[in-house]
Amino acid sequence: MSKETIVIIGSGPAAWTAAVYAARAELHPFVIEGSFHRTMVPGGQLMFTTEVENYPGFKDGVDGQTLMLDMKAQAVRFGTRVLTEDVLKLDVQQRPFRMTTTSGAEVLADAVIVATGANAKWIGLPNEQRLAQSGGGVSACAVCDGALPHFRGKTLAVVGGGDTAVEDALYLTKFAKEVVIVHRRDELRASKVMAERAHASEKIRFEWHQVVTDVHGGDVITGIRLKDVRSGAERDLEVSGLFVAIGHEPNTAFLKGVIDLKENGYVRMPISWRTQTSVPGVFAAGDVMDDYYRQAVTAAGTGCMAALEAERWLSHGG
Ligand code: NAP
Repeated sequence: MSKETIVIIGSGPAAWTAAVYAARAELHPFVIEGSFHRTMVPGGQLMFTTEVENYPGFKDGVDGQTLMLDMKAQAVRFGTRVLTEDVLKLDVQQRPFRMTTTSGAEVLADAVIVATGANAKWIGLPNEQRLAQSGGGVSACAVCDGALPHFRGKTLAVVGGGDTAVEDALYLTKFAKEVVIVHRRDELRASKVMAERAHASEKIRFEWHQVVTDVHGGDVITGIRLKDVRSGAERDLEVSGLFVAIGHEPNTAFLKGVIDLKENGYVRMPISWRTQTSVPGVFAAGDVMDDYYRQAVTAAGTGCMAALEAERWLSHGG
């Protein structure tokens, strides 16, 4: 059993930024970064992104994996220690807080920063995963990937009917020749104003009552297979990009009943512009508490906030 001043759970931009700040404040942070066997993949969602072009400071863009490994190296340079396991349990009934990891190890901490992120939901097709991981034109983030050269002037598909799908489709119209929204019903879940904008766009058309049953292409996507949920009829649609926008799932399973969560599973933040959760001494940063912006740079910003807030909380006696 180890006893730490501060434990940071997670390994995306929020976690590593928190670690850099905590390490430089001489809090000797211990990061439990997640393992490859569960949802909390080390490095977080950026490990699945090829080119990140909207992270400030990289004028030519940066590979998502490189960005994450460099952030980790920066945190380690200042003395951060890292455990590549998942936290299965967080006990806040006693102080110091007690975490149990995958191997059964117990870690105690005076303060905890939860930065476990959220995962984009995928349709769950083998070719979807293959082409998403290889940068072959399948993505769960239009804002991250939509402006890449190979999507310009092409027909692109967006799956989903919520605000994200519509927002993504509208964003993609800046670059694409045509954007096809594929939705499993004939009515959008998106807010009225967003739906109206989508209907008004000359570049957007809809495929109603359709689900995607396969993604075609070798190194890059060439099309998708659509299935009409009413008749079961299947047909192919030629597209040069597929953007999956069917929601996100925060990695908060181990926090249920421990700290306050919102109905959608994200961590509830009792005070706006603060990272303190419902349990004093437990802070949250990044996508796990942000169902609105979900950007690497905003995650890094809240990671910084959480480390500063934790430092102040600890210096006032915890
Ligand atoms: P969402 O509202 O949960 O919508 C998910 C969409 O994906 C729904 O249309 C759903 O279909 C569809 N879907 C879910 N699973 C599917 C599957 N397996 N196959 C095919 N389709 C599937 O998620 P979201 O759009 O990411 O929005 C999340 C929250 O963020 C919402 O509260 C939203 O208002 C908010 N948001 C707001 C803005 C904005 O205000 N600008 C932008 C983005 C997000 P059904 O409709 O049939 O269930």
